[in-house]
Amino acid sequence: MATYQDLSNEALQQKYNTLQDAYEAIASQQLQLDMSRGKPCTEQLDLSQPMLDILTSSSTVKTENGTDARNYGVLDGIPEAKALFSSILEVEPTQVIVGGNSSLTMMHDSIVQFLLHGVSEEATPWIKQGNVKFLCPSPGYDRHFTICEALGIEMIPVAMTPEGPDMDEVEKLAAADPQIKGIWCVPKYSNPDGFTYTDAVVDRLAGMQTAANDFRIFWDNAYIVHHLSDEPDELKNILPAAAKAGYPDRIMEFTSTSKVTFPGSGVAALASSEKNIAFYKKNLSVQSIGPDKLNQIRHVAFLKDKDTLSAHMKKHAAIIAPKFHTVLSILEEKLGGKGIADWTNPNGGYFISLNTMDGCAKDVVELAKKAGVTLTGAGATYPYGKDPSDRNIRIAPTLPPTEELKKAIEVLCLCVEMVSINRLLQ
Ligand code: PLP
Repeated sequence: MATYQDLSNEALQQKYNTLQDAYEAIASQQLQLDMSRGKPCTEQLDLSQPMLDILTSSSTVKTENGTDARNYGVLDGIPEAKALFSSILEVEPTQVIVGGNSSLTMMHDSIVQFLLHGVSEEATPWIKQGNVKFLCPSPGYDRHFTICEALGIEMIPVAMTPEGPDMDEVEKLAAADPQIKGIWCVPKYSNPDGFTYTDAVVDRLAGMQTAANDFRIFWDNAYIVHHLSDEPDELKNILPAAAKAGYPDRIMEFTSTSKVTFPGSGVAALASSEKNIAFYKKNLSVQSIGPDKLNQIRHVAFLKDKDTLSAHMKKHAAIIAPKFHTVLSILEEKLGGKGIADWTNPNGGYFISLNTMDGCAKDVVELAKKAGVTLTGAGATYPYGKDPSDRNIRIAPTLPPTEELKKAIEVLCLCVEMVSINRLLQ
């Protein structure tokens, strides 16, 4: 098939006219389809409904070591929850704090602590060291960028590749500037590309020279167990790699059960060196008298161990993998071979990244919106909401029912074609 770049203006115009008729027919249906956020669908939430029956008024609400979970205390999480997360994250229970309902909150709190108190007892607070900067592999998770923006941290975009962040660039920047204090990483099934960092990238991050001696890697392992296929991606464990490279305190790893059980009512965890955990706990003690231990008990009883968790995640995959396939097959059918877009095909996680021709993403999102399809804002996957090439669109396939999803992706493809042709005709 000829790409659109090979077609004459007349042929392109003809195509455009046909697409416009189709667009107007769809726009008149007054659709209201929301594809903007990566939320589980109702069937996925139903998988964890039995967890709500675990605690009743006649339940034992004592933790494994006899603490009454209804009362204050156990700031770093109940031992059985620590054991569960330590097996998921493959670290020692002493390296884990099990927190409240959100890993994003723990990330935000860590950064605020580092700004105000420094990264350790001995360290100087980041805010006393001048302008704080973070490396931001992009496209990336918009809420990471929002944290930086809200806290006045300057963001430096670094290109994402299928292997992970562009490490030549990361190493060069981190080695040169002591104001660069951190990097955001979603190392497994990254948001939005669905890429998993290679072992070589993990080793380079773990062992690289940084001009700042209080540099921290924010290792947001949100999708650690969220596989879509029976042959999941493997991610090298960065905590032992960093310890081996001589930087045991460099890594702050986060995860949660938000997309395992219930977003907003899950359990989050932080893993790091014992030294960092002790410091985080000290700062945490000012802010809290203890987490929701009843929810931790519920989660441990429901998810039990790695095997039970893995069986549960397979049920999620059975619901959402077909939705990913639906999106990918429509993209291929409507846009394949036309030279106007490419997209990722992830093995897990919650997103597909669609890349248009340069300068088209904003217009595509706007045109789709006018036809009743809401997508994540173009640019949202970049620091300050600015995609320098204006080409990345994040597709979140999980929430809508399949029929709605099909319709939304068809509208999206129509918009990509129309905007691309317009651009080629200019
Ligand atoms: N990290 C990433 C990469 C995410 O995509 C999300 C949610 O979409 C979160 C963190 C939010 O995690 P939590 O619900 O634990 O705050």
